[in-house]
Amino acid sequence: MLLRKVTQSPAICSSVFRLQPAITGVQRQTGALVAVRNARFYASQAAEAVLDKNVVGSDATTTAEKIDKMAIVESKSFAVNMFKGQISTSQVFPFPSVLNEEQSQFLKELVGPCSKFFEEVNDPMKNDALEKVEEHTMEGLKEMGAFGLQVPADLGGVGLTNTQYARLVEIVGMHDLGVGITLGAHQSIGFKGILLFGNPQQKEKYLPKLATGEHIAAFCLTEPASGSDAASIKTNAVHSPCGKYYTLNGSKIWISNGGIAEIFTVFAKTPMKDEKTGEMKDKITAFIVERSFGGVTHGPPEKKMGIKASNTAEVYFENVRVPAECVLGEVGGGFKVAMNILNNGRFGMAAALSGTMKGVISKAVDHAANRTQFGNKIHNYGAIQEKMARMAMLQYVTESMAYMVSGNMDSGATEFQIEAAISKIFASEAAWLVTDECIQIMGGMGFMKDAGVERVLRDLRIFRIFEGTNDILRLFVALNGFQNAGNQLKSLQKALKNPFGNAGMLTSEITKRAKRKAGLGTGLTLQGMVHPELNHSGELTVKAIEQFGAVIEELLLKHGKRIIDEQFVLKRVADCAIDLYAMVVVLSRASRSLSQAHPSAQHEKMLCETWVTEAHERVMQDIKFLRSGTSKQIFKNLRAISAAVVENGGVVSPHPLGF
Ligand SMILES: Cc1cc2nc3c(=O)[nH]c(=O)nc-3n(C[C@H](O)[C@H](O)[C@H](O)COP(=O)(O)OP(=O)(O)OC[C@H]3O[C@@H](n4cnc5c(N)ncnc54)[C@H](O)[C@@H]3O)c2cc1C
Repeated sequence: MLLRKVTQSPAICSSVFRLQPAITGVQRQTGALVAVRNARFYASQAAEAVLDKNVVGSDATTTAEKIDKMAIVESKSFAVNMFKGQISTSQVFPFPSVLNEEQSQFLKELVGPCSKFFEEVNDPMKNDALEKVEEHTMEGLKEMGAFGLQVPADLGGVGLTNTQYARLVEIVGMHDLGVGITLGAHQSIGFKGILLFGNPQQKEKYLPKLATGEHIAAFCLTEPASGSDAASIKTNAVHSPCGKYYTLNGSKIWISNGGIAEIFTVFAKTPMKDEKTGEMKDKITAFIVERSFGGVTHGPPEKKMGIKASNTAEVYFENVRVPAECVLGEVGGGFKVAMNILNNGRFGMAAALSGTMKGVISKAVDHAANRTQFGNKIHNYGAIQEKMARMAMLQYVTESMAYMVSGNMDSGATEFQIEAAISKIFASEAAWLVTDECIQIMGGMGFMKDAGVERVLRDLRIFRIFEGTNDILRLFVALNGFQNAGNQLKSLQKALKNPFGNAGMLTSEITKRAKRKAGLGTGLTLQGMVHPELNHSGELTVKAIEQFGAVIEELLLKHGKRIIDEQFVLKRVADCAIDLYAMVVVLSRASRSLSQAHPSAQHEKMLCETWVTEAHERVMQDIKFLRSGTSKQIFKNLRAISAAVVENGGVVSPHPLGF
């Protein structure tokens, strides 16, 4: 009631609606990928961009025109550009401030009641023990409108922008990740497809009841033999001869809200005729499936390590008659629907987990400030101080990423998939580290259930696994970047075919490479973008980007299409990309605070400088390693050790005692 009550203001509703174009922009966003199958697709495209020599036209003017065209469609994404050793600042500087007065005011009115609810009504320990969200909490959340935060107000929701949504899920993440998953599985993935791809009839039919929580939603992609490789699902939907319905058969596993949902977004294979060859091929289609259609059943709630309060269950579809009007998006376009849903939800995970970190940092501080050992409060000891400082930095980076991505999305950016994936990877790993260190600071007390941190650690573990494992997302980040860098190289190759027509471009590219090789600056700069007090950090970031761009090119030239199979390399490339994006988001945020003379500006400057200095070192180390002969040997060793362990069914070396 609280959240929805505030929404009733027509002025606020119309302000929310003014943001519609951002959502439409998001709809146009083409698929991110979670499956390696797609990573392969991206990778081979990237490699082709380097190796394909046949596409170059013989006519000089045509080549130049083509290059010009490529320049016109240049990406504004910072992440895409850093892979090319370039800096595109428009999405990262200044730090996004996307809320207008009215939207900020509206959000402020929501934050208080939402926090109060989680402090006074919700009981995370009880939810965890009961392995379900208490009934009165569910009812309270429904009353508040928490099940329809981004549903437009005229369809019964609160109509929040991504940034407003991020601020509220941060509160949920701070208090109870089990509730967070119940809400997130419902609106971040469960019915997000209807918001993004639904037609007006589907939206009108389903969203009002979903927004109030009368109906709960679930997202059904994973199957026993199909996890990361989402494109390999076997659930199938066969079109009826009359064309009026599909018959759906199959089963899904580990579906959040699977046992309590009424509405399911289900991904199934549909046999389709290939327009060109006339052959029948299976393509994935997304469907809105109502439990009331019949034939939908579920298994018992899974027993899990964490997020116990959230319901996870198998869902079975047996000869379910799904009306043809329940196809979501295009027939055969389901993979794109799935990837867009996941891509669009990732900033929410970063926001929620930055809230989680804030919560556990407070607990660590409380303990460190009050616990005396060896005659001193433990926060006075360097070992504890380093932990605290690192926890604060990780939270600062995660929060900056979450609001950078949500701000970009709200501004209508269509290319943010690398950034969104980075924010999910970073947030889930940072939250784990921060919570683990909180337990360490609290000592034995941290291990006790009553302290409430062990539950958070258990809850957090799944975030590195679901919605794209961090390993697969690292491949995604690296291969997506390689693809873009490959396109740039291709245009350079084209230019080389007509050196006189492209003399200017070639000279600058050759000079850039020569300078990079000599360790000199290539003319890139962040001066004027970063606050003058952060110029040195800006220079470190630029240097790291220049060397990163250079090593990406070297790797592409060295491995060509085979880069796709170089996972040892790809992992390190992704690590560099994550560090680089983290550097730039904190530079941007701290610069804004300094410019606005924010009371915490000097503190943020320290967070930023420390982060950037260390991240720069890490990136340079990784690059050095990738260029070295040592890496080749180490990767060879790692491969061989793993193969031996697998072959042996476990560790190979005998026990030191010999038995
Ligand atoms: C609590 C919980 C809730 C969930 N909720 C939902 C939900 O609501 N809806 C839904 O559809 N699914 C859900 N899932 C499923 C989740 O998304 C999958 O578990 C996840 O996608 C990973 O798939 P998998 O577990 O089959 O692992 P696998 O894909 O089998 O991967 C196992 C390991 O191998 C790695 N790996 C796999 N392939 C490669 C490769 N080519 N190269 C390198 N490494 C590779 C992975 O990174 C991982 O480390 C949920 C799972 C859990 C546990």
